[in-house]
Amino acid sequence: MSNREYDVQTSHGCRAAGHPTRRAESALGGPAGLSGREGASSRLDKPTGPHGRSHAARWAGRPTARYGAVPDDRPRECCGLFGLWGDAEAARHTYFGLYALQHRGQEAAGIAASDGRRLRLHKGPGLVSQVFASPAALEGLPGAAAIGHNRYSTTGASSVRNAQPILIESKRGQLAAAHNGNFVNAAALRRSMEADGSIFQTTTDSEAVLHLVARSRQDALPDAIEESLRQVVGAYAFLFLSPEMLVAVRDPFGWRPLCFGRLGEAPVVASESCALDILQAEYVRSLAPGEMLVVDSGGVHSRRLPAAPRQASCIFEFIYFARPDSRIFGEKADKIRRAFGRRLAEEAPADADIVVAVPDSANTAALGYAERAGLRFEIGLIRNHYVGRTFISPCQHERDVDVRVKFNPVAGVLRGKRVVVVEDSIVRGTTLRKLIRLVRGAGAAEVHVRVSSPPIGCPCFYGIDMSTREELIASEHTVEEIRDFIGADSLRYLSVEGMLGVVPDPAAMCTACFTGDYPTQVPADFHKDPFERSGKASAES
Ligand code: SF4
Repeated sequence: MSNREYDVQTSHGCRAAGHPTRRAESALGGPAGLSGREGASSRLDKPTGPHGRSHAARWAGRPTARYGAVPDDRPRECCGLFGLWGDAEAARHTYFGLYALQHRGQEAAGIAASDGRRLRLHKGPGLVSQVFASPAALEGLPGAAAIGHNRYSTTGASSVRNAQPILIESKRGQLAAAHNGNFVNAAALRRSMEADGSIFQTTTDSEAVLHLVARSRQDALPDAIEESLRQVVGAYAFLFLSPEMLVAVRDPFGWRPLCFGRLGEAPVVASESCALDILQAEYVRSLAPGEMLVVDSGGVHSRRLPAAPRQASCIFEFIYFARPDSRIFGEKADKIRRAFGRRLAEEAPADADIVVAVPDSANTAALGYAERAGLRFEIGLIRNHYVGRTFISPCQHERDVDVRVKFNPVAGVLRGKRVVVVEDSIVRGTTLRKLIRLVRGAGAAEVHVRVSSPPIGCPCFYGIDMSTREELIASEHTVEEIRDFIGADSLRYLSVEGMLGVVPDPAAMCTACFTGDYPTQVPADFHKDPFERSGKASAES
């Protein structure tokens, strides 16, 4: 199928819809006049916008409010990949690599291993430690090659059948695959393949590529993979494992990170370099956009897919997703993230006493902010690391109990202080609003919020779970309205220019969720779970 055959909109229109930083007047009739302090009602609590419901009301039905799940008002990671070839402990090393990449996906984990003759697979829902809790799980994965995957569901619902790696048997023999990213033509691709008789086991977009590879008339597996990936539009880092070879590939735009290293003589690939560090493996380099590494008994061979019109590496990896101790796209995430904080301090100073981060993801940017602002960095919020995403509150009547389960303010640090709270990004603003109430409740005299990225006004179609405008408070509201909603004394964001000013190659970055400048056309009917909604594959396995 060619790219022309899928349904595209010629202009996404996100920018035309009005980016909040460009609007001089509030959509609600001018700057909000309410204090936003504890007990004050917010204008965003009132019906507003084309949906006829307030931002808070639209989210009231989400799991956070209804079931008391731990609030997770932030962009969700995509997935984590790890692969290794030529070490007798391949599955065990992959297990540790997945441990280091746990932040990229907590819904499911899995490892496929090759002993040179056949592949074996173990996967399931939950954290790596849960999926591989039994020693028998790793003992059942013998062989010198393995690929592993941590899943967060960016396409396809969160369910056991969608855990990866996906393993298929075809006329080529066995093939396993693990994918990080999202195809924007996934629905059209799948419809076309189902019309041709393909039967899908999962509701992920990743499986379509396996079907294409299985159908390919190319003799060599790397050729079949390349032929298949040429039919895909969108973001991917892919690992494939057959009994004879491991193939690692990044999409030609370079959205998702993938690095190459060595554990002794054994080639290793991983989404982030922190997965190499845990094994004391040597970091060699980032795979180039469109690069395919083929690893087999003959060594490591590099080849390229046809070039994309431009490079578009996800700048959100630097802002939030990647661990600060990782290298991604060849750069140290800590260095870039700290520079975002410094630039934010230059652009948006605050008359304050201390700087506090929303832990843990804003810690590094907050350090940069404090350093450049000449303010003391304090640990003013403590995060409980033992809370999973499925916490069910037995006491929903208690105000903000969901956020208090996860964060606790340090009253001795905050009392009487004018506090700068540094956050890395704002998606809905609902959790930040509660956090600010906690900080004020602990006695802070003033709360000034500084965000180390620009307002997120547009959806992401490339593997980050913010695929509708309704999820984004900045898509419909001005900075002043958001300030009022979260209850801060002031709110400032890093500018797009400031953000791009600290990355080494600004033209190589995707910034679509901030600017509406999409590197590809996207389907007008894009949805995160297109195959669930269409009623396909409804039986849970
Ligand atoms: S739209 Fe935003 S989150 Fe999505 S790939 Fe681009 S920069 Fe990353």
